[in-house]
Amino acid sequence: MIKVEHLSKRYGDLTVLKDISTEIKKGEVVSIIGPSGTGKSTFLRCLNLLDQPSGGSITIDGENVLDKKTDVAKVRQKMNMVFQSFNLFSHLSVLENLTLAPIKLKGLSKEDAEKKSMDLLRLVGLGEKADNYPDELSGGQKQRVAIARCLAMEPEIILFDEPTSALDPTMVSEVLSVIRKLAKEGMTMAIVTHEMAFARDVSNRVFYMDQGLIYEEGTPEQIFDAPQKERTKAFINRVRNLVFKINSQDFDLYAINAEVEGFCEKQFLSKKLRDNALLIIEELLLIYKPFLNELELVLTVAYSEKTESLELICETAGNHFNPLESDHLPDEIGLNLVRNFASKIDFIWENSKNTLKITIKK
Ligand code: ADP
Ligand code: MG
Repeated sequence: MIKVEHLSKRYGDLTVLKDISTEIKKGEVVSIIGPSGTGKSTFLRCLNLLDQPSGGSITIDGENVLDKKTDVAKVRQKMNMVFQSFNLFSHLSVLENLTLAPIKLKGLSKEDAEKKSMDLLRLVGLGEKADNYPDELSGGQKQRVAIARCLAMEPEIILFDEPTSALDPTMVSEVLSVIRKLAKEGMTMAIVTHEMAFARDVSNRVFYMDQGLIYEEGTPEQIFDAPQKERTKAFINRVRNLVFKINSQDFDLYAINAEVEGFCEKQFLSKKLRDNALLIIEELLLIYKPFLNELELVLTVAYSEKTESLELICETAGNHFNPLESDHLPDEIGLNLVRNFASKIDFIWENSKNTLKITIKK
């Protein structure tokens, strides 16, 4: 359906896309993952001609869309795009947002456009919001409207550019559910996402983009379970860290909690995992507190996307010191809490370094 050959894109001296060749077939769902700044958005924008490619060719249903004679508006109808930031018209009602383009570009009557748009709003669960304005909706609802608006143009393929990354974590799943539903109905889609679990279960194929290329591609199993190339491996197995250096008893527990909360939200951790982490961190810091004028504690909160596990790593330098076994524990309750909310506790003392590693219960 779409064939891309040797696609390249430069901005001035900066080569963003080097040489991309691939095909997307009808009914396929392709997830595009990769570090930020590697050209994922640029790739999508080139596909639907929001950006003019610097070289190569894009063929849709046998038609070369880079041909001067191509009707760009038609191409964009065939390959409609959903953006991170919704891009709804705030002065139009939800229904008018949907009917605008079909009336203007497809020549539908107002009546037909409204009837069809209502069906689409119902499809995304927003039938009752037709007369509301975008500002009256939550982020998740706005994005569902944007998806319905995109469908109103009857595209052959939908391009999603990080459709959930501007949303509160609580609203991610309603949008992913709608996209999943479209996938089930056989919609052809290319989705740039950082939602790895979603990418794995929704797509037939995954592109890992890096260095301006589709660096590795394969089935979700191939890319997530057995990546072959070095950068793909590093990306898939990467661990995200948050590090605190604490060397005074007067540390700001509230600020630490707030940062950990933000970190957990960014990684889309469950509320339970987050709450367990906050609880253990608070207790641990109380346990360490009496020692913190002499010791520096390096506390790392580490999340591994691959194993979906959250670890707290507490490091102190010097003689053997495991606060959980200390004679000077303030109370047993704190210790028990830590034990109860941890699925694993490891301690090692090596090269004058104490490392206490706590895996948080899910
Ligand atoms: P991704 O979506 O993977 O994060 P982008 O496609 O947004 O990456 O950007 C890739 C690179 O291209 C970045 O280095 C970015 O700064 C650059 N870039 C993107 N758009 C433009 C533009 N309009 N002008 C100049 N540079 C751009
Ligand atoms: Mg992007």
